[in-house]
Formats: sequence, C-alpha cells, structure tokens
Amino acid sequence: MARYDVVITGGAIVGSSIAYYLREEGFTGSIALIERDPQFAHAATTLSCASIRQQFSIPENIRLSQFTLGLFRRLKDEFGSDADIGFREGGYLILAGDNGLPILRANHAAQLAEGADIVLENAEQLQKRFSWISTEGISAGAYGLTGEGWFDAHAMLGLFRKALKTKNIDLITSEVTGIERQGNRIVAVTLASGERLEAGTLFNAAGPNAGKVSAMAGIALPVEPRKRNVFVFEARDKFADMPLMVDPSGVYVRPEGSVYITGGAENEDGELAADIKDFNPDWGLFEEVIWPVLATRVPAFEAIKATQAWVGHYDYNALDQNAVIGPHPEVTNFVFANGFSGHGLQQAPAVGKALAELLVHGGYRTIDCSAFGYQRVAEGRAFRELNVI
Ligand SMILES: Cc1cc2nc3c(=O)[nH]c(=O)nc-3n(C[C@H](O)[C@H](O)[C@H](O)COP(=O)(O)OP(=O)(O)OC[C@H]3O[C@@H](n4cnc5c(N)ncnc54)[C@H](O)[C@@H]3O)c2cc1C
Repeated sequence: MARYDVVITGGAIVGSSIAYYLREEGFTGSIALIERDPQFAHAATTLSCASIRQQFSIPENIRLSQFTLGLFRRLKDEFGSDADIGFREGGYLILAGDNGLPILRANHAAQLAEGADIVLENAEQLQKRFSWISTEGISAGAYGLTGEGWFDAHAMLGLFRKALKTKNIDLITSEVTGIERQGNRIVAVTLASGERLEAGTLFNAAGPNAGKVSAMAGIALPVEPRKRNVFVFEARDKFADMPLMVDPSGVYVRPEGSVYITGGAENEDGELAADIKDFNPDWGLFEEVIWPVLATRVPAFEAIKATQAWVGHYDYNALDQNAVIGPHPEVTNFVFANGFSGHGLQQAPAVGKALAELLVHGGYRTIDCSAFGYQRVAEGRAFRELNVI
C-alpha cells in the first residue's frame, strides 16, 4: 500500500493543472495523478470547442479566463520556446434581440469593469463590421476585439502533461473505484487494480464524472454529464473575420481552419443527465435546429453540408451552471474542481493555480475563488453565470 500527500482523481486539463501549479507554488509532498483514460479519448477537454472568452456575467469568471489569457500570451516563457497551442484571437460575438438586450448590457458593464476589450454595437454597426451577417431580429452584439478566440485543446493538455514528467509526480493509469472516509476525513482511495492508496488530500478533477466520484465519498455534488453535439460543416464562402458567434437561440458557430464548427442546439429545459458512454451524434439537431438558424443569421450558409460530428459531455452543475471550487466545508481534505458547465478548459490553469495557493499558502492569492465554494451547494444557493454557451 502506498501513501500520497495529494491524490488527484482525473488527469485531464483540470487535474493536470492542479498538479502543475502545486509544484510551481513550491509543494514538496508526494502527488499521485490518477487517470483511467490516458489517451483522453473521452475527456471533455479533448472533445471541447477549445475557445476562450471574457464575456461572462460574473467578475470571478472573467478573472479566471483572464489568467489563462495571460498564460497564453507568455506560453513560451512558461513551457519552453517550442510551446504552441495555435491560439487564434478571433473574438466572440454574442448577439441579443430586444429581450436579451438588458442582460447583454449588464454583462458588458461587468466585463468593462474587469478591463475586458469588448465593444457593444447596435445592428447597424454590426452590419458594417461583418458584411456576411444578417441582423434580422438583432438589437445589439458584444464583440471581443482582443483577448478572446480559440486554440488547440490537445496541444494545451500536452504542454501540462509534458511539464508534469519533470515534476516528480506519479502518473497512474487506473480508475478510482472507491473512496474511504473516516468521519470527516478522507483516508484512502481504491483503484480498479485493487490497489489502495492512502491520501492526505484528495482532489476531485473527474470532469463530467465528478458527481459519481463525490458520491463515493458520501458527498452530494450536483455535477452530471450533459451530452453536447458539435457539427463540422463546409461552406463555399470563407469569412476570415468571423468570430465565434452566438445567436440569441443559443446556436454558435466559428471557423476552424478551412471549415466551420457549430453547436448549441440542445434544449436544457427538463434535460436530464446523459449516459456518459453515449458518444453518438444526434444528427437531427443539425438539420432541424442548427441549419435553419445559421441560414437566417448568415445567408451564405443557406447551402452548407455537415461533414462530421462529435459528442462530448459538459461537466454540468445542475444548481447554477458554475464551477464548484475549494474544499468541502466539513470533509476538508476533499477538494472540488468541478462543474464548469462548458467553460472549464479556459478556466483550468487559473483554478489549478488557485487551489495550489490554497493548499500551499492557506489562502487564495491571485484570484479569490471563495464565491465558488461548496457551501452554496450545501445551502442550495445558486451563484448563477448568465452567459453559459
Ligand atoms: C462539446 C464541448 C464543448 C466545450 N467547449 C468549451 C470551450 O470552448 N471552452 C471551454 O473553456 N470549455 C469548453 N468545454 C468544457 C470543458 O471541456 C470542460 O469544462 C473541461 O475540459 C473540464 O476539464 P476536466 O479536466 O475537469 O474534465 P475532463 O476533461 O472530462 O477530464 C476528467 C478526467 O477524469 C477522468 N476520470 C473520471 N472519473 C475517473 C475515475 N473515477 N478515476 C480516474 N479517472 C477518472 C476521465 O477519464 C477524464 O480524463 C466544452 C465541453 C464540451 C463537452
């Protein structure tokens, strides 16, 4: 039987970031990072749309993404001269009709207060900026001039994983199948191999499976997998200036090299947890929901052809679509980094840094993440992010 000061369940972007920043903050104890799918074939990280924005409603969410943006801008200093994640600063364009306008305005004010480079433009201005758009039904749009865009998620994860190899971290390929708890302390985890690892502190970085992992410790966490379809399509016209555009219907689209990707067709009303093993695309969503929206918003997309699709699972926090970050208030050596609900990739570096600061220095230093704490879950008190895409 082995003993580790820190055990992390889940080795994709969030788990890897926690391990990375623990060492960066000077943690000298032993660390085990446990991952059941070392190719990350089914991780949200690698099945995501790999985009980063400043356009959130909550200042803390803006700050978390800004930290990651800073990391992207000094990537080579952090990870070496050959580090490259193909960051393309194409911006987000979030559109609103009359109904959505007050929220768009309020969000924009919050973003400006955090120093984000976002402009709010009316339909006429948008039409002038983007020749390909139809502003039918649109009152305004918020557009990120800088600081928003997309990148290669595999490359980003690869940088963290590679860096871990020189940081004296045990990368274990196995599944955590049980968590032993004595009163208010986590004592050990059991692996699928039958091995038992004693744990000083246990981090939950299990993505869409985080609710199940918490349940192993007898702790309720309302994080569940929600199936999200992403479609790839080709179009005759290429719009090099197209940002990641979000229609008021929730449908989004952005360029990806010579093609486009699109999604956002799922209806969350009454939506239940998905089968985490279901990776079959729901092609009907493209024909019935996405294509009509795209054809209206971008008339040149009247004639498009979906060529591929993939499915990933959101790590969906059913309470408020916002992250749960930090230790359990009573079981204090069980630490959450969960429930990012579609924006966890861009927040992972900041969350890893914050949790490392908490463990090493006893408090948050760079970004105060207290508002994301589990206490609100225990009380059923929502901390709602309004810009969930
Ligand atoms: C379609 C889609 C689009 C998205 N687009 C974006 C985007 O544009 N921008 C953005 O910021 N975010 C986006 N997200 C969200 C983002 O991908 C996630 O929030 C983020 O990747 C979560 O990272 P994670 O490491 O917590 O989870 P994951 O990447 O899912 O990793 C969790 C890991 O834990 C492992 N694991 C689980 N249980 C166990 C266990 N019991 N034992 C051992 N290992 C275990 C899994 O195998 C997995 O590798 C998107 C998500 C989806 C599905």
